[in-house]
Amino acid sequence: MSEVADPRRFIPRTDAVLRSETVAAAREHLAEHVIRAVVAETLGDARRGRIAPTAVMDQVDQRLVAFQPYSLRRVINATGVIIHTNLGRAPLPQVAIDALVDAAGYTDVELDLESGRRSARRGFGARKALLRACPEAEDALVVNNAASALLLATAALAEDQEVIISRGELIEIGAGFRLPELIESTRTRLREIGATNRTHLADYERAISQRTGAILKVHPSNFRIEGFAASVPVEQLVELAAERGVRLIVDLGSGLLHPDPTIPEEPDLTAQLAAGVDVVIASGDKLLGGPQAGILLGKADAIAACATHPLARAVRVDKLRLNALEAAVNTASNAVADALHASDAELHRRTETLAREVGGEVVAHAGRVGGGGAPEYPLGGCALALPEAVARPLRLGRPAVLARVHDGACLVDLRCVTPDDDPVLASALAAALAVVQEG
Ligand SMILES: *Cc1c(COP(=O)(O)O)cnc(C)c1O
Repeated sequence: MSEVADPRRFIPRTDAVLRSETVAAAREHLAEHVIRAVVAETLGDARRGRIAPTAVMDQVDQRLVAFQPYSLRRVINATGVIIHTNLGRAPLPQVAIDALVDAAGYTDVELDLESGRRSARRGFGARKALLRACPEAEDALVVNNAASALLLATAALAEDQEVIISRGELIEIGAGFRLPELIESTRTRLREIGATNRTHLADYERAISQRTGAILKVHPSNFRIEGFAASVPVEQLVELAAERGVRLIVDLGSGLLHPDPTIPEEPDLTAQLAAGVDVVIASGDKLLGGPQAGILLGKADAIAACATHPLARAVRVDKLRLNALEAAVNTASNAVADALHASDAELHRRTETLAREVGGEVVAHAGRVGGGGAPEYPLGGCALALPEAVARPLRLGRPAVLARVHDGACLVDLRCVTPDDDPVLASALAAALAVVQEG
């Protein structure tokens, strides 16, 4: 191709594009580095022949207008799994969303508005809410997440000492992060006892020595050991720890505040505190239904040791989540509780309505708590069964809808869908079904 005939010579120059009105308009809302990246990418596409030189300005304009300043999207959870790790665990109730927004600008997180002076009230509201919800606790502390709460508790209560843990509780908390490695990253050593399926009181008794700082009991929230299994009840460990002068830390994970008859086997925070553990740890964004957070509840001296440990500052939680957690604890119900307690009759009625609107067959389908606690306990309920091919267009729609693909069907479970979203979901299903029928 001769120089003259090369259409690429019509491609506008970068500085000309950057001086255009299109770009000037985009500067009102987009950072300069975003604009430069979009322009460079578009010019690159033109040089590679992917777009015509004459279309460059239009393309730049379209791409700048379409640019999304943030990338996470809303997803309607039609899987029936309440605490879905890949969907960001607990959805926040409206009051917690309001709390996030109210704290987003300048806020009185460390200021006493009465006197106008600095105040140590950071986390005060969330602490008070948690203590009202769990009066058995003497004190409370909120940190970044449960993993950091565990790190902090073991570091503060067993620094340069050993922490005793049953081999049946050496869990991986997802994406290759293992509790033992996490704990040993501080100046604490783990002393593993028992066998994977059985650990007895005598194993703990034998392991306690001068070097022991604490016993750690971890609730296996994301798996179950079935069959020939045994672990030591928390009451016996409380007694043993008190007798031998060591601390007892319980990592509960799930964050269930009080016993719930819907999930009878799931241990709750209140029961652990009533039993007398020194510190119990929970996640904010599992069954508690709040934002990501690590909650420590327990004896005043143990919580104080955690709060004053140097690591506490490194695992601090931000003002947004402190406010949202307080709201989630203080509110009457939340999205997680609503999904957990959804009535079978109501789920059935809503699913039948959906079936009348878009077609498909109503089938029995058990919802699950998911990664937050009582993982495999079936919750009953139903789903709308559609052709499996619908799942993909559903995921790619706006809002995206995640359904459960199982046995060649796309199962739409309304347990975790707020009734307000039923019409949105119906439209999304109709659109996805149309895509499948066309293809
Ligand atoms: C979920 C869980 C964790 C991790 O909680 P994060 O808040 O994600 O850090 C730790 N321990 C147990 C028992 C859990 O269930």
